[in-house]
Amino acid sequence: MAMDEFDPGAYHWLVNMLESVEVGLVVLDLDFRVEAWNGFMEHHSGITASHIHKRVLFEVFPDIPQAWLTRKIGAVALLNTRAFTSWEQRPYLFRFRNTRPITGTTKYMYQNLTISPLSGPNGQVEKVCLMVYDVTDTATNKMALERANEQLAKLSMTDRLTNLLNRGTWENLLDAEFERFIRYKHATSLVMFDIDHFKAVNDNYGHLAGDEVIRHTARVTREAVRQADSVGRYGGEEFGIILPETNAEGARIICERIRQTIEESEVDTTAGPIRYTISMGITQLDSRPDNYMQWLEQADKALYKAKESGRNQVRTFDLSYI
Ligand code: GH3
Ligand code: MG
Ligand code: MG
Repeated sequence: MAMDEFDPGAYHWLVNMLESVEVGLVVLDLDFRVEAWNGFMEHHSGITASHIHKRVLFEVFPDIPQAWLTRKIGAVALLNTRAFTSWEQRPYLFRFRNTRPITGTTKYMYQNLTISPLSGPNGQVEKVCLMVYDVTDTATNKMALERANEQLAKLSMTDRLTNLLNRGTWENLLDAEFERFIRYKHATSLVMFDIDHFKAVNDNYGHLAGDEVIRHTARVTREAVRQADSVGRYGGEEFGIILPETNAEGARIICERIRQTIEESEVDTTAGPIRYTISMGITQLDSRPDNYMQWLEQADKALYKAKESGRNQVRTFDLSYI
């Protein structure tokens, strides 16, 4: 805004405007003493302009990162150029309470900050102006959106009933594990398992109780495996476990633990307590399968053998099953 001739009227309304604008305006000299402090700053800090006038900013606000702001202001004064910081780099400079009713979930006001050099008549930078923008709404919206996106991504990877990996995600991992084996040849095992006579569970206790049994199976399995193992819900009452760095003997120990826990537990459902069993098939990967689907078929064959041999048991694939 140019003011060629000094006009007391214009000066008056200009000051009025700066006083009432919805942006924090602070003028500091190069010793960080406050020269100007507008209405926005008074309102949010509770400190009046006359109280803070000529005082060193860091003494009144000990929370402000002094080294950082000193460096910023030093660069602005030296280069005679503006500097900008967004809430994403630093959530706020002044710790003001969030006063926006719609975004009452965040405690403090998020701020963007611009620092501008102010030159004197001789062109030398004598002061700087801090402009503090309240961006709480933008920040909280963006963070809510990011949280929602994270949840969506997670939902699309997992199965709603059990929270296990869904079939698509799990199969991708199985494929990746297969490829890793081709390169590194580390012992890797795969388990497929299925609830025994699950149709009878649904028929006798109802579908909701059946869902409870599926959830219980998922819980027991999750608790029995290690962090690096991947459990997926492959079908309705069929599950898969990828066991990296595990040979068939190791896989059998884990499977027996799961099988036994389920055999010994009673699921407390609204339709009454339910006891049930599972059958499991193991296969340790070797050079025979050409792709992950053939590997999966081997595990399926072992599972079928367990069913055929009377259920409630663990079988490891061998070539006689083909
Ligand atoms: P087997 O011992 O040979 O495995 O017998 P089964 O009765 O468990 O096997 P089958 O594949 O014949 O039956 C599976 C049943 O699982 C049929 C289907 O209605 C039921 N089912 C599939 N998905 C769900 C689900 O999400 N919830 C419930 N409650 N039942 C499901
Ligand atoms: Mg079944
Ligand atoms: Mg089945």
